[in-house]
Amino acid sequence: MHTSNNLKKLPPYLFAEIDAKKQELRKKGVDLIDLSIGDPDLPTPKHIIDAICEGAHDPNNHRYPSYNGSQEFREAAAIYLKNTKNVVADPDKEILTLIGSKEGIAHIIFACTNPGDVVLVPSPGYPVYTSASIIAGCEVFEMPLRKDNDFMPDLKAIPKDKLKKAKLIFINYPNNPTSATATDEFYKEVVEFSIKNNLILCHDAAYIDIAYDGYRSPSILEFDGARDVAIEFHSLSKTYNMTGWRVGFAAGNKDILSALGKIKTNVDSSATAAVQHGGAVALESSQDCVKEACKVYQKRRDVLINGLNGKGWKIEPPKATFYVWAEIPEKTDSRTFAAKIMEKTGVVITPGVGFGIAGEGFVRFSLSYPTARIEEAVQRISSL
Ligand code: PLP
Repeated sequence: MHTSNNLKKLPPYLFAEIDAKKQELRKKGVDLIDLSIGDPDLPTPKHIIDAICEGAHDPNNHRYPSYNGSQEFREAAAIYLKNTKNVVADPDKEILTLIGSKEGIAHIIFACTNPGDVVLVPSPGYPVYTSASIIAGCEVFEMPLRKDNDFMPDLKAIPKDKLKKAKLIFINYPNNPTSATATDEFYKEVVEFSIKNNLILCHDAAYIDIAYDGYRSPSILEFDGARDVAIEFHSLSKTYNMTGWRVGFAAGNKDILSALGKIKTNVDSSATAAVQHGGAVALESSQDCVKEACKVYQKRRDVLINGLNGKGWKIEPPKATFYVWAEIPEKTDSRTFAAKIMEKTGVVITPGVGFGIAGEGFVRFSLSYPTARIEEAVQRISSL
């Protein structure tokens, strides 16, 4: 059986060990608390499900959707950007529907690079930046996100030879897995840097609305010059608990979006029309449901951090995302530590190294699990 040479270059799946251990413990009847999964446990709000059902009954939605996404959905995305970020975007040229942001993130690499080009990716980071770059035959340069730089990449440290060959840079704030937010200074710097170095700037904004303590995460499109070089990936998955429905959108530079659209026209036929109808209702309606979900995550965040701090852990409460990125309180590596916690307590957490070498020394807790179970996880870990 033949597979592509690039497919063979994909790094080994670092969570395989954890998955096997999870299965083994489950078989033994261990009551696992799985805080390794970044998938909201909260249901999709009713008004959105009702709209999807209504859309499903409309025979117009039983036919192929339009390639760029429905007019209704793209207009709703423009309304959302205006209402929440004060960004004005043309729904016809500056917004493109995605089947969840993951496919857009992967396809943009195929649209805008050639084999041998360098793609600049954050490390630790969402694995798709790297895997899609490898499948496209690109070279990946990892920009470390270090604690002493508040988990923002040091753009000045990118070697000149890599920068010369670089075509695309990914950033992601609020960040998975570090839960860090970026400063306005960083957004301005990365826009200027991308203009100067002729880079396409891709901002992954999957967690842009999951925020606490009054924090508001900006869109990169709010910053001067961004529209010349940037596109931003939005996901309805985390904002409206819609991971299973598969819908998102990209917004920003019209030429970059047109290239992405060209790839998509040739490999898919856009998101399900009824789901786009529900997505439009989500984006246009009151955002109170998002605030309610954030309140739930904030409570869980506090339960976890207040419970672990003082017991050897020193965790800063994140301002955004539903993850907690915690420095390991022992002198050991993140895989050994996560395996020990699972073995001894049944609590599953993700070793930081799984997100890239620079994630070593940390573990990630996901807050997408019922509050009572997070309380129990804290008790189990604290009693170690
Ligand atoms: N970006 C980041 C940082 C993520 O963590 C995820 C999913 O976990 C995605 C993008 C993709 O989300 P979706 O394809 O559901 O929109």
